Amino acid sequence: MSNAFIGQILHVNLTSGAISTENLNPQWARQTLGGAGLATRYLLELTSPGIDPLGAENVLIFMTGALTGTPSASASRYSVVAKSPQTGYWGQSNSGGYFGPALKWSGFDGVIFEGVSPEPVYLLILDGKAELRKASHLWGLTVPECDDRLQSEVGRPVTVACIGPGGENLVRYAAIMNNKNRAAGRTGMGAVMGSKRLKAIACGGNRHISLHNAEAFMRVTQRQREFMDESILKIGFDAFGTNMIADMVNVRGGYPTNNWQSGTFEGIENVNAQAMTDQVLVEGVRCFACPVACGRGTEIRSGKWKGAHGEGPEYETADTLGAMCGVDDLNAITMANYRCNEFGLDTISTGAAIAFAMECYQKGILNHDNTGGIALEFGDADLVVDLVEKIAKREGIGDLLAEGTLRIAERLGSGSEHFAMHVKGLELPAYDPRAAKITGLGYVTASRGGDHMNGYIQGPTFIDMPFLIVEDSTIRNPFVVDPQEARILIDMENALNVLDALGGCKFMGVLVSADEIVDLVQAATGWDFSLDEFHKCGDRLQTMARAYNAREGMRREQDILPERLMSDPLPDGPGEGMVLDRASLERMKDTYYEMRGWDVVSGLPTPTKLHELDLDYLIPQLWDNYSG
Ligand code: SF4
Repeated sequence: MSNAFIGQILHVNLTSGAISTENLNPQWARQTLGGAGLATRYLLELTSPGIDPLGAENVLIFMTGALTGTPSASASRYSVVAKSPQTGYWGQSNSGGYFGPALKWSGFDGVIFEGVSPEPVYLLILDGKAELRKASHLWGLTVPECDDRLQSEVGRPVTVACIGPGGENLVRYAAIMNNKNRAAGRTGMGAVMGSKRLKAIACGGNRHISLHNAEAFMRVTQRQREFMDESILKIGFDAFGTNMIADMVNVRGGYPTNNWQSGTFEGIENVNAQAMTDQVLVEGVRCFACPVACGRGTEIRSGKWKGAHGEGPEYETADTLGAMCGVDDLNAITMANYRCNEFGLDTISTGAAIAFAMECYQKGILNHDNTGGIALEFGDADLVVDLVEKIAKREGIGDLLAEGTLRIAERLGSGSEHFAMHVKGLELPAYDPRAAKITGLGYVTASRGGDHMNGYIQGPTFIDMPFLIVEDSTIRNPFVVDPQEARILIDMENALNVLDALGGCKFMGVLVSADEIVDLVQAATGWDFSLDEFHKCGDRLQTMARAYNAREGMRREQDILPERLMSDPLPDGPGEGMVLDRASLERMKDTYYEMRGWDVVSGLPTPTKLHELDLDYLIPQLWDNYSG
């Protein structure tokens, strides 16, 4: 097998309990670089269109990247891929911490779960050997309880990824948590794990990752680290975490408040980075091999939750569990974050679903009779904390909220769809595209729905953060629609796809150039990997996910924003009076599809494009029965 990879994929059939191994397909590894890309290749291969995401036919794939577990900066990450129970499309989530390296060091590049176990189980992988163990005694435990129990039960240190009650109860936005506080949060991968009655994976081992040219690899790594040590990003992230951008987004009028009824938040000074540092920060927390410590180790020092400690909140969480719900009580936001981690819920979707329900209550669509007597008022900080557990356990109104914004709106109707803030069922994160138009295009073209991380175009727009990984990331005037900026979004998506697949953190896209990534891949694998291949690979990864979605019926029409963003003007801030109107969005989409080589009418990747990207096997799947 190539250097950098272990060369082994583990297959676990949960229905029968059979475990087998497969040699990693070297062609697939080269074409995808591992991670989400390789997992998507398996997803396309192993599943048929139209399956139930929570049924036995779905697969759940944990995959590390070519660089995961090596000493290169931030090589900490793994991806989880399955059909999403939240969107019905491509489900993918990515997490740092230490689980990705631990999985690789235990002897496998990835694990593919099929079927449904008749009883709760966990997978134990130690030194290249895997076994399924009963987990009835773990079912119902929170994430930290499960992790602690496994540490003592296995009898040697293991690194754990598990679900909490949220995943067990099939909350559609349940997360998979690793190292207790790190989340593969988005698109409901925890619910898929729960549907398979798989409580946890625990791994341990010291398998060596061989590198083609270790000396050259360490030279590039060292050069990168020296550069990063001097960078503003590192200094800012170390001091303030990702929440350092809260003031910047707020001042630009894009900080979603009261379920996106406003783009500026009066209580920003109570929840911004300085407030976090003053009130709850204990120390910065870093993932494996990362020179930056953007995680927030925190403790609540006063009030009813005094003494509670854990990690977070980061930027998205501080907004979605805070301003989006009208809450400026940092202790409550921090506590709600801890509860999401303990119960295994995605913080973005949790906060956004609560915020949506609050607006439904404000407008009388929800009332005392159908909330079980709960007054879902904006600004009720204690309520936000309490609702997290109710959602995870599907208690009372929590059962409805556990379905996510799309389905809540479908059930309630009465015009609530207008302000249901999701794209394709995935709740939007904390950047309002009315105040930065290109970010709206990013939301509708993102492979997993309302997602900011696919191309993180929010970086160059809201915070003027240039990304070295692309040639040009300059957004001239975020308030103005410029369809030609689709080129920047595409370049960002492609480059960050590569980082993701390799197992690196997308934040490193600010600090490393594509040339340096090429050097690293060459040194690690021994491939004659080129800059052209870097670009082609990023394009291929985006197109593969699009093809999966197209197979599930996604078309151009589904690439659409919530009606509020297209027709309700921002009431305040520098973007006051602005929308991202439908006609402008459609113009941007035209340019985006053309630049991508996708069919402008349907939004499907064209046969020519699929052939160009060595994805010929997808042509009949997408086009044989296409009827327009
Ligand atoms: S930048 Fe932050 S999230 Fe990314 S790998 Fe480093 S510590 Fe983890």
